[in-house]
Amino acid sequence: DSNPKKRQISLLVAAPRGFCAGVDRAIKIVELAIEKYGAPVYVRHEIVHNRYVVDQLREKGAIFVEELDQVPDGVPVVFSAHGVPKAVPHKAEERGLEYLDATCPLVSKVHRQAERQVEAGRHIIFVGHANHPEVIGTFGQVEEGRMTLVETLDDVEALDPADPDQLAFLTQTTLSVDDTRAIVEGLQERFPGIVGPKGEDICYATSNRQEAVKQIASASELVLVIGAPNSSNSLRLVEVAEREGATSYLIQRADEIDTSWFDGVNTLGLTAGASAPEVLVLEVKDYLKQFFDITEEKVRTADERMVFKLPRGLEAA
Ligand code: SF4
Repeated sequence: DSNPKKRQISLLVAAPRGFCAGVDRAIKIVELAIEKYGAPVYVRHEIVHNRYVVDQLREKGAIFVEELDQVPDGVPVVFSAHGVPKAVPHKAEERGLEYLDATCPLVSKVHRQAERQVEAGRHIIFVGHANHPEVIGTFGQVEEGRMTLVETLDDVEALDPADPDQLAFLTQTTLSVDDTRAIVEGLQERFPGIVGPKGEDICYATSNRQEAVKQIASASELVLVIGAPNSSNSLRLVEVAEREGATSYLIQRADEIDTSWFDGVNTLGLTAGASAPEVLVLEVKDYLKQFFDITEEKVRTADERMVFKLPRGLEAA
């Protein structure tokens, strides 16, 4: 509105932002499972890393637990979008639990590549972040000792493989595009025979969101990224914005915003990680409008039309 006392701020909203096809599918799987089986439906790990999404699903009848042994017998369980070690569905089968796998198809693709490389006799160098559930899930696709994690170029330098001619690399899907390129180049330099995917396994949603935030950050003093502190792809958006010279904060909701952040800010960038719903973007915009006269501009760097199929048995629900 045009309250003359409000200071004018230009708002650059990144596109693409927010939900990706894998997150959209994972949330639908939980909703459809509740429709099909009735509440409660158990979910192992946060279905996607977003508190708002998790709270909404909890209200509909989902119960979130960290491990399978917290799921009682006789109720369905959904595995999160990040993927799970093979031992998890095995254990579910042993117990006769009905399970639905919401692992993003792009993560499953990396799982299959891991199996294939090990079958071909190669040791895998995995580029990723220690302890992230996706990394735990991918490591759990192959026998222990067949995969080594690297997080940095220093880790690449420190590698001492038994057979440097029998190596493959794979990557987490939600990494920094620029950092990963450097690490993959480091690997290829040290081990010229290393095989791997063309480029890396970073997914379309991660790279598109990074490209878009780069664009808005180069024109903004401050960039707000809506996302959770345990969301890998959201954390990377903050890093990318900062590298472009903007100050950047990760926020979960509008109530985490401190208005003093806007001192001296004329152009503000706004984006959201792949697990953050659009309703939170609207909430942040509404909050900002209380204090500032906002002129909004959308900065689109890519079109996304990706949709993933639902698991069999749910698509009809
Ligand atoms: Fe899948 Fe990428 Fe979305 Fe992760 S961020 S759920 S890998 S599309």
